[in-house]
Amino acid sequence: MSGWYRARVSGREPDVLVIGAGVSGLTTAICLAEAGLDVTIRASRLPLETTSAAAGAVWGPHLVEASERVTRWSRSTLATLRDLAGQPGTGVRMVRGIEAWRAPGEPPGWSALISGFRRCGAAEVPDGFVAGWQYSAPVLNMPVYLGYLLDRFTGSGGEVAVATVGSLAEAAAEVPVVVNCTGVQAHHLVPDPALQPVRGQAVIVANPGISDFFIGAGDATADLVYMFPHGDTVLLGGTEERGNWSLDPDPETSQRILAGCAAVEPRLAGAEILAQRVGLRPVRPQVRLEAEHLGSGRLLLHNYGHSGAGVTLSWGCARDITEQILRRHPSPGR
Ligand SMILES: Cc1cc2nc3c(=O)[nH]c(=O)nc-3n(C[C@H](O)[C@H](O)[C@H](O)COP(=O)(O)OP(=O)(O)OC[C@H]3O[C@@H](n4cnc5c(N)ncnc54)[C@H](O)[C@@H]3O)c2cc1C
Repeated sequence: MSGWYRARVSGREPDVLVIGAGVSGLTTAICLAEAGLDVTIRASRLPLETTSAAAGAVWGPHLVEASERVTRWSRSTLATLRDLAGQPGTGVRMVRGIEAWRAPGEPPGWSALISGFRRCGAAEVPDGFVAGWQYSAPVLNMPVYLGYLLDRFTGSGGEVAVATVGSLAEAAAEVPVVVNCTGVQAHHLVPDPALQPVRGQAVIVANPGISDFFIGAGDATADLVYMFPHGDTVLLGGTEERGNWSLDPDPETSQRILAGCAAVEPRLAGAEILAQRVGLRPVRPQVRLEAEHLGSGRLLLHNYGHSGAGVTLSWGCARDITEQILRRHPSPGR
């Protein structure tokens, strides 16, 4: 893990403390650092141990409020991920794929953001599905992408400390601006009972030659059926278990995921499971992106509750937080 993080060595008070090193914390910290602020991340888990590392991941607003701001954040992130897809080493690629449904339906509102989005013919969707769309979207190999984000943050002067924050008020007493990017753990830290985990389990197998992604609606045996190719491997999912806080992979669930995907893509039948991943989607009726004034000019901003769309909203939310901080504290701490 050496090179993945470095503890704060200067001893100087940063302008901004970002709590959390998942996709929300890292992206927010990058935007702040690249705007010229002195930023420290404090996180109990490093990027590869977060929910963010367990994501598929594809751009697409899933399990999240339908609102004007979500469309704005999604559009902003889509533009950035498209740019990153052209750069080696980011873990982002534009990939074509199909999203298939078991009942007829209308295209999602976000389809307007994707050029080339089209309805599939009946012969294009697998057995058991009756409708679907085909489109190209950014697909992210999350361990690689999180590594890219961390390098970009530290490369712009940011520092990362591994530590647990026990109280937001205590953290806010240390620095002028604190940004809370703690994902589902905000349920306990804030505390925020409106925030609940929706557990997701996925498995990694060797790629038998799959080049397109597939996302299928669940049925009686599966919450969702999805597969995302990442070069030599393919990530298969998945589950959506509301209220389940367990981070332990369940081997039976992994076998069920594999069987569900093999029913759609027979080349996966009998594949050896190379790894299992579990994450807790931070699901909330609305994303919490707002500021709290704590007196004495101190500011606490929340950026959590992105549900099944934390990657999809990441750059839009991070830019929004950065604008709010620069507007209220043009040069915090100085
Ligand atoms: C199986 C699965 C598939 C998914 N697929 C997609 C997808 O395809 N596209 C998409 O957009 N989204 C997807 N998501 C959702 C997405 O992964 C989440 O919305 C996103 O990862 C949340 O990121 P985060 O940074 O807010 O939280 P996290 O990744 O959970 O990071 C939280 C950070 O806060 C730290 N922290 C928490 N409490 C404290 C504390 N008290 N003190 C210090 N540090 C603390 C943690 O250690 C961690 O570093 C998926 C999720 C799962 C589980």
